[in-house]
Amino acid sequence: MNLKSKNYLILLSLLLLLVILYLGMQEIYKGQTVSLEDFLLAVKNNQIKTIIFKSDSEIIAETKDGKILKTTKDPAESLTQIFKDYGISSSTIFNLEIKKETTGLKEISLAFLFNILPFLLVAWIFWQFFKQAQRGTTQIFTFGKSGIKVYNPNDPDRVTFKDVANLEEAKQELMEVVEFLKNPEKFFKIGARIPKGVLLVGPPGSGKTLLARATAAEAGVPFFYISGSEFVEMFVGVGASRVRDAFAVAKKNQPCLLFIDELDAIGKIRGVGLTGGHEEREQTLNQILVEMDGFEKGTRIVVLAATNRPDVLDPALLRPGRFDRKIVLELPDIKAREEILKIHLRDKKISKINLRQVAERTPGFSGADLANLCNEAAILAARRNKEFITQKELLDSIEKVLLGPERKTKAYSQKEKEIAAYHEAGHAIVAHYLKYSNPVQKISIISRGRAGGYTLKLPTEEKSFYFKKEFLDELASMLGGYAAEKLVFGDITTGASNDLEIATDLAKQLVIRFGMSEKLGPVSLTRRSPTFIGPEFFEKEYSEKTAETIDEEVRNIINQALDRSLKVLEIKRDKLEKLSQVLIKKEVIEQKQFEKLIAEPKGSLEI
Ligand code: ADP
Ligand code: MG
Ligand code: ZN
Repeated sequence: MNLKSKNYLILLSLLLLLVILYLGMQEIYKGQTVSLEDFLLAVKNNQIKTIIFKSDSEIIAETKDGKILKTTKDPAESLTQIFKDYGISSSTIFNLEIKKETTGLKEISLAFLFNILPFLLVAWIFWQFFKQAQRGTTQIFTFGKSGIKVYNPNDPDRVTFKDVANLEEAKQELMEVVEFLKNPEKFFKIGARIPKGVLLVGPPGSGKTLLARATAAEAGVPFFYISGSEFVEMFVGVGASRVRDAFAVAKKNQPCLLFIDELDAIGKIRGVGLTGGHEEREQTLNQILVEMDGFEKGTRIVVLAATNRPDVLDPALLRPGRFDRKIVLELPDIKAREEILKIHLRDKKISKINLRQVAERTPGFSGADLANLCNEAAILAARRNKEFITQKELLDSIEKVLLGPERKTKAYSQKEKEIAAYHEAGHAIVAHYLKYSNPVQKISIISRGRAGGYTLKLPTEEKSFYFKKEFLDELASMLGGYAAEKLVFGDITTGASNDLEIATDLAKQLVIRFGMSEKLGPVSLTRRSPTFIGPEFFEKEYSEKTAETIDEEVRNIINQALDRSLKVLEIKRDKLEKLSQVLIKKEVIEQKQFEKLIAEPKGSLEI
């Protein structure tokens, strides 16, 4: 049930209550009005059981057979006097039960009900209409309002962690947030520092918004939602004022989750010409920082934010006490894709399907693409007058989604996937067998931006200086992808261009900065430029002739590295094949799996 129908239900029950009360009151005061004479006669004849003074002049009486009589008297005269004058015996009076009617709660509340409540009711109804009208038509003018949306945690349509496939690490991190929101006192008591802000980073459709909503539902707290794209406004300062308003709303509803979606979109204004988008962006981001810094101790709000572009984020956002936790969501691997498909086919009619096969054919698809795929398959099945979605509809829909207008992420074909697998396996194998290159931590062939995949190699320790042989081994593994493509396909793809760039840069540094070239010897051919700060800017300190020698030396180093790389792969061709096949199947391999698969120690080739 949504908010609006609930309002109407409340209204209806209030009206009903009013009617019942009204009828009840009619019952109570239904009594017959009689003259004072008749009343006194009834008293004299011992017919009256109870007398109630309603006021100085009004009298209500109940007869012994249960009838109610009403009458009036002169307020200046007391009832006792009247009785005496009428000649009613004191024994009769003594037998009467006489009450002064209390202007008690009942009276007051009845008066309230009949006089004030109808007004309130009418006012309330008007208020509702007014609000609705305002929402409908005057949106543009409500600058100060954040346009914040709220999701009820008890909404039956809510999503929970069960509806989010895979992303186990992210869920685990968010469980901490959930626990805090559920029972903040527990954390405050022992003085634990609570996460103020959590940043979700991942490509479009990877489930950031979904996870945020699920977190709120798991915690059972309200979920306030604003989107950075809604901050795109014409005037500077609007974004900031919306942020202020959003935080004010959240503060009033603690504990709660405040979700700022599409953080990177904040303040992106183009072509307005009045003021730069830059300023607006700064102001809006600043306001977020100000608000988060202003959380008092004991604030029970967790701010979640999502972005597709961590690279454009202001580093100030990531400082402790702000978004001090970062959760990275990646595109789903083959296993995750299967799970996501399962979730989205849960309440659809299916028959004879092989989800593994669908997952195999959808490398690079995001969660959103897969959800879309399931929907397209259902539409296709209906159009084909089928009762169930079958494998055919699912496979036929892949292309539709690939070509669809809403795709943001790039997927690649089976052939491209194969190339990516050999390429990454090449990096990994070379890195593993050479002694001084960094160990492989993770290999992935899920497309990531421009690169087809990546091999993550991390130094085991933070070093302040390097040996030449370390550089050379590193260079060889950098060229491992290129070497593998050459070896396996007899050709090179454009996928290696980034590797070559980095390798060439490194080789050049060896020659001109570190004096590691045989031919040029121990000379530094570069100076840190005095006009720039930072290691990236160096000045050229050599002649044209030397420049030629440098180029030659760089080429030599690179060629040697490539030769070593090719040699390793030739010798370990079987491992290269094996690893590539596993990669094609699994798409992601972690360090442990990798080492088990290779089953030979690191650095066991001397080349
Ligand atoms: P983002 O905010 O990262 O761009 P969304 O959270 O909006 O992506 O995801 C879009 C849709 O894709 C979701 O509504 C859901 O249907 C589907 N989806 C994405 N990731 C998953 C997942 N891990 N499990 C199930 N469905 C997912
Ligand atoms: Mg989103
Ligand atoms: Zn590469």
